[in-house]
Amino acid sequence: MVKTLDLHFKIKGAIAAYLIESSEGPSLIDCGPHSTFPRLREALAEHGYAVGDIKNVFLTHIHFDHAGAAWALAEQGAKVYVHPRGFKHMHDPTRLYQSAQRIYGDAMESLWGEMHSIPLESLTEVQDGETIVFGGHPFQAIYTPGHASHHIAWKLKDLLFTGDVAGCRFSAGLAVPPCPPPDIDIPLWQQSLKIIRDLAPRALYLAHFGEVTDIDDHLNTLEWVLNDWGQWIKEKYNAGMDAQAMVVPFEAYTLGQLKDSGLSVKQIENYQVANPTWQSVYGLFRYWEKKATS
Ligand SMILES: [Zn+2]
Repeated sequence: MVKTLDLHFKIKGAIAAYLIESSEGPSLIDCGPHSTFPRLREALAEHGYAVGDIKNVFLTHIHFDHAGAAWALAEQGAKVYVHPRGFKHMHDPTRLYQSAQRIYGDAMESLWGEMHSIPLESLTEVQDGETIVFGGHPFQAIYTPGHASHHIAWKLKDLLFTGDVAGCRFSAGLAVPPCPPPDIDIPLWQQSLKIIRDLAPRALYLAHFGEVTDIDDHLNTLEWVLNDWGQWIKEKYNAGMDAQAMVVPFEAYTLGQLKDSGLSVKQIENYQVANPTWQSVYGLFRYWEKKATS
């Protein structure tokens, strides 16, 4: 029932979308960036579908690597489901795109592709706990902020599609938290991990990347690393270091952790593609800065 679509973002095995088949047609959980839309089309064809066959796109959150292609699927008839806090940005992505453009500059389009408005009639906001039944499948929205203030994990029976809230993990290596700005919140993230534990799913499906079944170990490691990275940035922040100056030493620190966990250089590349170190520096820096000024 669940098919993992590898969107080949820069390399294989960095960004996944999930295809859920049903008697009424297929749905996607996340769809990846618009830059990998041709690969999404190809991956769907490998399972016998055209883009226009997709009936629903259940977004975990609106970051480009998860939701960037949603407008192109909506154009072909898909309904798009998103948390209320992400809704307006999917309908009018101007601000979302511009703030990303300030970060990515000229690389914006080659990295993420285009971003267009999703018309209101194709867009539905979903509240925490709400269930959309389609083709006999109950897709339940589980509000799980921390990585993003508008993050949903999608529960389908005993499976949980976790977007980024259950972290990134490649080759059964270390589970790590992607911490991009602007709304990382460590205590909220910890609460979301508790919600996931309490649901006791049989499997997690990470956008970066794939199925996880050793869920206790995975979530415990993730929580440990989240705290550890948070403390690392906090100490430097308190010592007056600026975010830019933290990038190189933080990269050395986190690469050391990945190597120590037994990963090869090749395997570590997936971590860097899906979760660039500088992003986590800026996201965690912003978290401590907000806390200090609030
Ligand atoms: Zn992501």
